[in-house]
Amino acid sequence: MRILLVEDDRLLGDGVRAGLAASGFAVDWVRDGEAALAALAAESFAAIVLDLGLPRRDGLSVLADLRAAGNPVPALVLTARDQVADKVRCLDLGADDYVVKPFDLDELAARLRALVRRANGRADACLRHGDLVLDPAARSVTLKGAPVVLTGREFDLLRMLLDAAGRVLSRRVLEEQLYAWGEAVGSNALEVHIHHLRRKLGSELIRTVRGVGYLVDEAPR
Ligand code: CA
Repeated sequence: MRILLVEDDRLLGDGVRAGLAASGFAVDWVRDGEAALAALAAESFAAIVLDLGLPRRDGLSVLADLRAAGNPVPALVLTARDQVADKVRCLDLGADDYVVKPFDLDELAARLRALVRRANGRADACLRHGDLVLDPAARSVTLKGAPVVLTGREFDLLRMLLDAAGRVLSRRVLEEQLYAWGEAVGSNALEVHIHHLRRKLGSELIRTVRGVGYLVDEAPR
């Protein structure tokens, strides 16, 4: 799951990026408000983690612009303890959640998972498709109750496809979400991951929509 981190503090940004990466997020990090808006206009993210005090354009202004432009990306704001008025304002401006510095990285990751889950209209923390269950917090997958061992990328890819069940996801969207900036992506890397998923989970689950992308049908009821 690809996250945009907007934080000008180098130490804090480093820590958050490392912590979220350890929880399985692909993190792109920008350090000012203008760069954040440029990134959000150009790419799709599962969520953004937004500091308020930023150079060039502050976090509240980024948030206001984003919502004014109709961008619904889930936003989690990082606030300082004494910024009560800012917390209220950021929620009013369209933030979905906030954490107060200093915060725990595991809590931040859990809140992000919850935001993305709610954005996808789900209350259940696990993704289910027939006999297949994916638990985003534990990063585990079971098929008919038996654990399935997936690589990090395979897991992220499966999560995106299950999250979007019933919709075709294009190659571009999948690749954008799967890889952070600057990561080398082999031209057939996506196909290789899909191939491995089919081998581990059966060839029926993930369908190829030729020339467009991939699809998991809506979960059987
Ligand atoms: Ca700051």
